[in-house]
Amino acid sequence: MPWGPEAKQRPDWMRVRAASPGSRFDELTEIVRSNGLHTVCEEAGCPNIGECWGRGTATFQIMGDTCTRACRYCAVTSGKRGEALDPLEPAKLAAAAERMGLRHVVVTSVDRDDLPDKGAEHWAQTIRALRRRNPELQVEVLVPDFLGAEEAAILTVLAAEPHVYNHNIETVRRVQPAVRIRGDYDRALWILRRAKELWAEHFPERGPLLTKSGIIVGMGETDDEVVETMRDLRAHDVDVVTIGQYLQPSAKHLPLDRWVPLDSFRRFREEGVAMGFGSVFAGPLVRSSYRAEEQRLAAEGGSRVVAY
Ligand code: SF4
Repeated sequence: MPWGPEAKQRPDWMRVRAASPGSRFDELTEIVRSNGLHTVCEEAGCPNIGECWGRGTATFQIMGDTCTRACRYCAVTSGKRGEALDPLEPAKLAAAAERMGLRHVVVTSVDRDDLPDKGAEHWAQTIRALRRRNPELQVEVLVPDFLGAEEAAILTVLAAEPHVYNHNIETVRRVQPAVRIRGDYDRALWILRRAKELWAEHFPERGPLLTKSGIIVGMGETDDEVVETMRDLRAHDVDVVTIGQYLQPSAKHLPLDRWVPLDSFRRFREEGVAMGFGSVFAGPLVRSSYRAEEQRLAAEGGSRVVAY
């Protein structure tokens, strides 16, 4: 939720949809709790939780609820060390996906700079467990930058065969150093390109890898800079882009800079299509994982834009 005076000025287009009566919200809550799982929907206070959980989808967050980074816009708890890894987590997640009857699952994690492999092997085990138990399931991974172990970690994750490789660039080049303490704009671009190259080099029989990235707006950037970032992503062969409005999680977080108008989101969609993205999802309440299956299907089917 926005914090302070801007809460009063929240525009109409930021009104969120509550879970409708008879939706699957309560069932989802029970599945998440009974398996001791974490979701980024809850950890990040996502405004779409009523809608997504009501439709029976959620985004799982593995490797605990403590992140070893402290990005200024992020609501996830941070600390020097993360929690001990739960070796049963991959199996629990796979069982939860089966109970939920998912066709497409999005998995993300906290950053684990405290682990020698940055969590790559746990990622791989999670993808394998999901695929073994749910052979039809499409697995989208929203991975960190694996700082210090980048190439080996990317390859470890790719070897487990995710269907979509997502790494969020988060913001434009100029704003990046002020809001992402250990993040790096060029490293994010390199990761997205390198994932595709490694996939083609090591697993040519699998066909193309779909890559994806997301931008949060309202953190001090201009519309032109957003378009420039989209161009950079496209130049690194990224297939799917998502763009959504920043919401300040608390008074301690980065202040909201602006409510990005609907015309700007329309411009991002139009320019993104012209640039050749497979899918562009841009709107105030868009999040990286919001209607992720539709994003993938649009990219695979060549319909390019999913208007929001
Ligand atoms: S948009 Fe993503 S994080 Fe938000 S509720 Fe939906 S699935 Fe969860």
